[in-house]
Amino acid sequence: MTDTHPSCIFCNIIAGIAPAVIVYQNDDCLCLLPPEANAYGHTVIIPKVHCESLYDTPSEVLSALMTTCKHLAQHYRECINATGVNLLHASGIDAQQSAFHFHIHLLPRFTNDGIDAWPNLPVIHVDREVLLERLRVE
Ligand SMILES: [Zn+2]
Repeated sequence: MTDTHPSCIFCNIIAGIAPAVIVYQNDDCLCLLPPEANAYGHTVIIPKVHCESLYDTPSEVLSALMTTCKHLAQHYRECINATGVNLLHASGIDAQQSAFHFHIHLLPRFTNDGIDAWPNLPVIHVDREVLLERLRVE
């Protein structure tokens, strides 16, 4: 893959310039252990091409990323006895994206692991008919 950005930490990892603990890679994706883990087996999955967010990542790359997530999830179920998995992703500054190379956090889950990966979001009140008119995909 050649579409790399010199200032991007993930591109530098893919290029072998920056160090990383790589768990798995294939033609499309690289999976690494982040320096600070939030769960046992916490893994970050990135595409080998530089894409910033969900908005500019080609569908075939997204497909490869999700297939890789499934592969890892199944593997972690066997090798570390994970009983579940959360996939976390952010696209855009307002979604709290911090590294601007598309990435998915995979958090293996275990019985009584004490992690709350599903925050209590506020309930908002909207007119769903009006909203539907604005959101409907024709
Ligand atoms: Zn990059």
